[in-house]
Amino acid sequence: MSKMNELVSHDVADAARRRARKLRRVAHRTLLRYPHRVRCPVCGWSGARLSPSAKPRRPNRLCPACKSSERYRALELVLRRRGPVDPDVRLLEVAPIHTVQRTAEDLGYRYTSVDLRSPRAQVHADLCHLPFADASFDVVVCFHVLEHIPEDRQAVTELARVVGTEGEAIVVVPRDDRRAVTFEDPDADPADYERLFGQSDHVRWYGADVAERWRETGVEVVEQRWSDLFTPDIFDHAALLGDDDRFWIVRASS
Ligand SMILES: [Zn+2]
Repeated sequence: MSKMNELVSHDVADAARRRARKLRRVAHRTLLRYPHRVRCPVCGWSGARLSPSAKPRRPNRLCPACKSSERYRALELVLRRRGPVDPDVRLLEVAPIHTVQRTAEDLGYRYTSVDLRSPRAQVHADLCHLPFADASFDVVVCFHVLEHIPEDRQAVTELARVVGTEGEAIVVVPRDDRRAVTFEDPDADPADYERLFGQSDHVRWYGADVAERWRETGVEVVEQRWSDLFTPDIFDHAALLGDDDRFWIVRASS
């Protein structure tokens, strides 16, 4: 084969491989899409099942379109069920993702986001020292943040302070059901966090004592399950069964 013919046949083979890859992607997406057993309440995508998550490795976990996990799909259902609010009702999102602001503003909330560093956040501040007045928010959303914070009790006190006795901070943390007591080790080397706490930037494994642990600070803590809020068909349709069935409502004690 001449040099020119060799190059041409390489190009043809490359193009065929690219076409095959594209066909596989389309086939995968099509297979994932039918029948419509699951619907993402955040973006409306529907299909046979959601994408798996990598860590922890679980099937039917993340929306293939908007990437929302079950806790954000549950929040969406909760906020939508409550319906539109007056424009003076304020919602604070800690460690914002891309979907909550859209939903909150769509429903009429005055939305604010806070994070120590994230460029997505409107306010940059430490969760242990929030620059907001007492009882200045009606709702705070704080998902998967406190397991990163060494002084989580101080952060919980701040969440309760900014919602006061009438508002509610909706808090989710990863919890290891096999542990009766939360495990942390303030002297641990950060190089060991992944081995000790399951992720390189986590500083503890919460156990069954989450509510008790936070109540010791004097705040009100109510432990709930998403599965208690929805009928089984709504729960299954939004694929809410993951690691995050529990959540906690935190507010100042009255
Ligand atoms: Zn979605």
